[in-house]
Amino acid sequence: MASLANIWQDFTHLLFPYNCAGCSYALDESEHIICKHCIENLPRTFYWTYNDNAVATTFYGRLPLQRACSFMYFTKGGKVQEMLHHLKYNSRPEVGQMLGRLFGEHLSASVYQDIDCIVPVPLHSKRLKVRGYNQCDHIAHGLAESMQKQYLTTAVQRIKANESQTKKGRYERWINVHELFRVVEPQRIANKHVLLIDDVVTTGATLEACAKALLLVPGVKLSVATIACPSIV
Ligand SMILES: [Zn+2]
Repeated sequence: MASLANIWQDFTHLLFPYNCAGCSYALDESEHIICKHCIENLPRTFYWTYNDNAVATTFYGRLPLQRACSFMYFTKGGKVQEMLHHLKYNSRPEVGQMLGRLFGEHLSASVYQDIDCIVPVPLHSKRLKVRGYNQCDHIAHGLAESMQKQYLTTAVQRIKANESQTKKGRYERWINVHELFRVVEPQRIANKHVLLIDDVVTTGATLEACAKALLLVPGVKLSVATIACPSIV
């Protein structure tokens, strides 16, 4: 059965089939989702080229990360905001995949290529039902394509902080009710270098909570990457 989100997606594609997700100008036949001009002029941070960047320092003293970076600077009213808006609120998950693919081209030519797998920050199931998809899954998919790595969308779950402790099951030792996330497939990430993905990093609180759950799994090394960060972190 078609979800409301899918119907809306078909409808908006009918209205705006060939417009750039960044500048809204018409795409030519060789362009796909984002126009050449926008791709060339994306406000890239190049944070993946050095370790002591503004995103990495956000997590200093909070998480034992290998590395952290963002792809682009986010400014209010800018093209990055426009693209993320399409991704999150206009039922255009393909924008996330495209941005992930572009980001992955840089990461695969950097020290980040030594990761083993990609894990997107999960959405809570209620939010997932409303939106119809997790935007981070699509970013991870694009990254996985460029970097030729596996991406795992079911390894971690987002839970309610007040979830009942009486429902402890097979993976109870991975569950911490004081956290927002739990790892449900620890065997898939044990002893791996995981790249944790989110769309935007601001305070880093969501990533920190998710990272803490992942770091409970034995042997996990963790790096973090997001599509955007504020221009002044
Ligand atoms: Zn454009």
